[in-house]
Amino acid sequence: MKAHSQALLPGAMLGVLGGGQLGRMFAHAATQMGYRVTVLDPAVRGPAAEVATRHLCYSYDDPKGLEELAGSCDAVTTEFENVPAHSLRYLQQHTRVSPPPAAVEIAQSRIREKNFFKQNSVPTNHFYLLTSDADIDDGFAQMSGKAVIKTTQLGYDGKGQRVCNSAAEARQAFKEFGSVECLLEDFVPFDLEVSVVLARDIHGNTEVFPVVENQHSNGILDVCIVPARVSATVSDTAKNIACKLANALEYVGVLAVEMFVSGDTLLVNEIAPRPHNSGHYTLDATDHSQFDQQVRTLCGLQAAKITQQQPAVMLNVLGDLVLDEKFSWEILCSESDSHLHVYGKEEARSGRKMAHVNFLGNDVDDILRRVVTIKGQFPEVY
Ligand code: AMP
Repeated sequence: MKAHSQALLPGAMLGVLGGGQLGRMFAHAATQMGYRVTVLDPAVRGPAAEVATRHLCYSYDDPKGLEELAGSCDAVTTEFENVPAHSLRYLQQHTRVSPPPAAVEIAQSRIREKNFFKQNSVPTNHFYLLTSDADIDDGFAQMSGKAVIKTTQLGYDGKGQRVCNSAAEARQAFKEFGSVECLLEDFVPFDLEVSVVLARDIHGNTEVFPVVENQHSNGILDVCIVPARVSATVSDTAKNIACKLANALEYVGVLAVEMFVSGDTLLVNEIAPRPHNSGHYTLDATDHSQFDQQVRTLCGLQAAKITQQQPAVMLNVLGDLVLDEKFSWEILCSESDSHLHVYGKEEARSGRKMAHVNFLGNDVDDILRRVVTIKGQFPEVY
């Protein structure tokens, strides 16, 4: 194993745990820079395996797959946070791993995440851990009247969470979620949601991408607007909070931090220890993408300085749109300054992320109007 301070140069083999679209875009960036990529993905076919040099088809905790990955890769990263922590720790004993397993472990659990925010004086909304039905009355009484119940593990894209207006509603949701450990947190009547994606390298240099304004639909990211339409104060505070978290985590890699904005107040919702859907605009609108930064930080190269070349709006393309009878890819790339990124998933399903389009222009409000016009062609979906 090479000393971690030594840079890995083109030709090295990079491993990625997970075979979805984030792994695919990582593989594109890595192969463009001359690296080879091995994907560990239990699915026989997938977006990342399709473009990688090599595919190891094993589950994430199969010792054989992990041994092979560790033995053949000069460094390993992950494209999702729910990799078993012991797998990452095993890999770390044999090869370079980024992000740090401890950071991934924190991001895997909403309660570990919230406690980490609290311990590090990172602003977040009030929360309460529910381990049994008996905790619900006390927990709800501590909320400000409206709360959100979320399973502490494996929730994503609005799954495993529900808004509750009473303890009875929270009790019902807790039961429906299988009485697993849940977090009850204050509902935040936010003005808007933002995220900050950053890259921190092994030397501790941090490069921060512009703040992104995120609009969700049914709990799933729909549109990202960059730069976010927030004051300079909010933008600076958001970046400072994200950097504070990255330092506290002694992070190496790409980190995304999602926040709620109410006036000038920011509350951190959650973190993702990997490139993030809200950073996909960087593929076309900044001089280095979040995936370039993932490759660089994994390989021990310096995180690149970031300049946004043009304002951008990203539109997520979900299975619902692809399945609409009026849908055609042509409509999405009918404009010259729209950039289509398709993930190569065989089957479109409702809520499934199939692709995204980055629209560029001179002004985010103008770009947003163009996106609204395109969405208007699919009244059954939007
Ligand atoms: P999450 O899985 O925590 O990212 O939640 C998905 C989306 O649900 C967020 O992006 C928000 O739009 C909404 N949401 C989550 N938690 C809260 C909250 N405490 N208050 C208001 N909205 C929330």
